[in-house]
Amino acid sequence: MKTLPIPDRDVAIFRELAGVVGPGRTIVDLAELRTYECDGLAGVRVRPLAVVLPETTEEVAGVVRVAAAHGIPIVPRGSGTGLSGGALPVPGCLLVVLSRMTRILAIDLENQRMRVQPGVINLDVTRAIAADGYYYAPDPSSQSVCSIGGNIAENSGGAHCLKYGFTVNHVVAATVVLADGRVVTVGESASDPLGYDLIAAVVGSEGLVGIVTEAVVRILRVPELTRTFFATFPSTDEAGACVSEIVAAGIVPAAVEMMDTLAIEAIVKATGVDWPLDVGAALLMDVDGTRAEVEHTAGAAVEIARAAGAIEVRTPKSDAERALMWKGRKGAFAAMGRISPNYYVQDGVIPRSQISTVLREIAAVTASEGLRVANVFHAGDGNLHPLVLYDARVPGEEHRAETVAGKILQICIRYGGSITGEHGVGVDKAVYMGELFGDADLETMNFVRCTFDPERTFNPGKVFPTPRLCGDVPGAYAPHAVEATGVGRG
Ligand SMILES: Cc1cc2nc3c(=O)[nH]c(=O)nc-3n(C[C@H](O)[C@H](O)[C@H](O)COP(=O)(O)OP(=O)(O)OC[C@H]3O[C@@H](n4cnc5c(N)ncnc54)[C@H](O)[C@@H]3O)c2cc1C
Repeated sequence: MKTLPIPDRDVAIFRELAGVVGPGRTIVDLAELRTYECDGLAGVRVRPLAVVLPETTEEVAGVVRVAAAHGIPIVPRGSGTGLSGGALPVPGCLLVVLSRMTRILAIDLENQRMRVQPGVINLDVTRAIAADGYYYAPDPSSQSVCSIGGNIAENSGGAHCLKYGFTVNHVVAATVVLADGRVVTVGESASDPLGYDLIAAVVGSEGLVGIVTEAVVRILRVPELTRTFFATFPSTDEAGACVSEIVAAGIVPAAVEMMDTLAIEAIVKATGVDWPLDVGAALLMDVDGTRAEVEHTAGAAVEIARAAGAIEVRTPKSDAERALMWKGRKGAFAAMGRISPNYYVQDGVIPRSQISTVLREIAAVTASEGLRVANVFHAGDGNLHPLVLYDARVPGEEHRAETVAGKILQICIRYGGSITGEHGVGVDKAVYMGELFGDADLETMNFVRCTFDPERTFNPGKVFPTPRLCGDVPGAYAPHAVEATGVGRG
């Protein structure tokens, strides 16, 4: 096959990038670029112009300046586990991959702070301080592979965010490279920072305001005692009521995760936990704190579970058994492969009190499209993760799964919830933003984005439902050539 020559402009750009990051860290080969064509939203693929792998803040700033000089859009990428297409390339973009920035720069146990590069893997933060009795609280189920930079961009959550809060509660400062290559620090290490809370504008910004090249995170002492229990119920109704009653009793568990029958089946098949298959739902719960506190609250929570109709309540007999229970829960998405050739991970939020009603509506909508849905989710936060099961080999099933996934978000909105709890909007859910927010809300969000990035260099075409300009921001410039993203199906 004839290979097309690389345009002179691109050759010049590749040379400039190599001048910034050194040899071997700019990928332009078409076969090698395939690895970077998608993130965890694997059904959508776009090839970037080039991938660049910087190792320092100065290199990221240099790369951003090259992109700015040539008017090239930039997509930041951490580990590429995002499920909403946040790290999906846009046509002609430079994909700035932070996965080589894995240095832990400082550990300050006394002040409970750690300074890390953005490519550090979430679990490696805890591993670095575990021997000293500390840990990093936000624990997405992908924590063994996802990066701190990606967690910051998505404001990631996890099972233990019910008690300890999301990423935004654990990142106190960040170094950010802006679209013109300037390097700024937002937030500060001190407990009582001055001025606007700009760190909160960066956390959860989905890579739209700049590239995080360093972060100062808060680390916590490992609680004196953690008690785990696993309870089964006839249906998600009793399990949902149990969660509400536990919280209403003033108990704040460290984590409360719910799984329905299909999810339990998949987890049992994939991990070998000996959970019963003839139940309607199960809760996996952690209660932690001081010994005296935990002994009281764990006992009270078990009593509430029994009164709510629990069939069985189990406590793990060893650390290994507890670890296996959590491994089962955290491996739930991947486990779906045991019961279905394909699945679509949805992420929405509802008020905790509506769990049973909403799960019934989701089941009805899924059944009306002839599909099955498994549910495994952060019940304490009301953060649902319906997994719509389908077979892509059957004509029309993938489309029906997407239809169901969209209807699920509309149900969440109808019950006073939101279209994402933790996986972000990205390209996948941008279309639903207009159903959740009015024009004035979206304009206000866009105004913040444009203040950081007036030419919309970073992640153009994502999060906002329609191309939004920065024309109303003083000094800002109009549309970027690539704003109308032609995202293709692969
Ligand atoms: C099996 C599985 C389980 C998951 N479980 C959870 C869960 O429990 N909770 C949860 O919250 N999420 C979960 N996720 C989603 C995903 O892991 C998180 O969103 C994670 O934070 C993404 O991190 P990443 O390093 O892979 O980022 P990427 O996917 O590479 O990027 C995500 C977003 O961050 C931006 N970005 C990345 N790095 C930077 C940076 N340094 N500066 C600026 N922007 C940046 C990208 O542009 C993109 O918009 C799960 C995913 C999978 C596949």
